[in-house]
Amino acid sequence: MERETFLMGTRLRVSVQAAHPDAAIAAIEAAFAEIRRLEEALSSWRDDSQLSRLNSAPPGVPQPVSAGLLTLLHEVEQWASLSGGAFDPALGPLIDAWDLRGAGRLPSRVELAGALAETGPRAFELDADAGTVTRRRPGSWMTAGGFGKGAALRAAGRVLEEAGVEAAILDFGGQLLAIGSPRRGEGWVVGVAHPSRRNRSVVLLRLRGRSAATSAASERFVEIDGVRYGHILDPRTGWPVRAWGSVTVVAEDPLLADMVSTTLFVLGPDAGMAWAESSQEDVAVLFLRDEPGGLEATWNRAMEPWLIRVVDDETTGSESPRAAGERSVF
Ligand code: ADP
Ligand code: MG
Repeated sequence: MERETFLMGTRLRVSVQAAHPDAAIAAIEAAFAEIRRLEEALSSWRDDSQLSRLNSAPPGVPQPVSAGLLTLLHEVEQWASLSGGAFDPALGPLIDAWDLRGAGRLPSRVELAGALAETGPRAFELDADAGTVTRRRPGSWMTAGGFGKGAALRAAGRVLEEAGVEAAILDFGGQLLAIGSPRRGEGWVVGVAHPSRRNRSVVLLRLRGRSAATSAASERFVEIDGVRYGHILDPRTGWPVRAWGSVTVVAEDPLLADMVSTTLFVLGPDAGMAWAESSQEDVAVLFLRDEPGGLEATWNRAMEPWLIRVVDDETTGSESPRAAGERSVF
């Protein structure tokens, strides 16, 4: 059974394999409803969400939030601190400075410095015991852009599993969640798009019990004086990240996959691979570097169980995956 809907500003497609179609449809509808609830809490595009109310709260005044949102924000905050400042949900003032939700503009150095002062780990304070979040600075606001889809996929996956679904694939605006395995095959075969020619798959993965998140600068960007700036920002400098290619992260937890992919896009392929190799987390990473001479793929050892093949560029077919850390230019 397959159903499609539009949530969190993007398309969600769910395919479920089940013996009883009615039960499958009911499970999918329940998953959609769960994501709709999360969107109502997390959206910064509507002013009545819990997150928007935090974003417009008077500075210094603690605001009560639901236990679910507090737990989620706590997880996000922990990841942000592990990321060394590369991941920051409170980068709203930078989105404003670059007008990334509008036509885009180049901020002055003064504007950029002002925006930077209102972002970062001290912009909001979480108090788990009191069940509150406090906005610290008047301009600070959070966006769920870097973690909302992952949180939604995690919640939707739980709903489906609780409904007895054993095999399903969810595609939420490019982030995937594979539950179990289809009747034929060892997992769900999915493609990773070329970073700048998005309708072409260049890598095939076979996923089972994992989520795959991809971050790139090519799909959403603004153009200022002929230069493309992506929608992912480096909170350490305040600048949008150059469109160097894409990173795909495969992890068991969709929330982690989402946050890590955005973070590694900020770090770039070299520092990103160094992080993946030293990390304690069980995360698989694949970098596709868009170079003038072609596309260069690198991946870590944790990616190998999921990697079917790197599809060759124009005509010459395919090749099998090689050892981790090896490069494939195609
Ligand atoms: P997509 O949402 O297109 O799948 P990502 O998961 O990489 O892509 O998330 C990008 C979104 O995350 C941006 O649109 C923005 O809302 C937010 N964002 C941008 N830069 C950062 C960052 N450094 N840390 C946290 N969130 C970010
Ligand atoms: Mg992400």
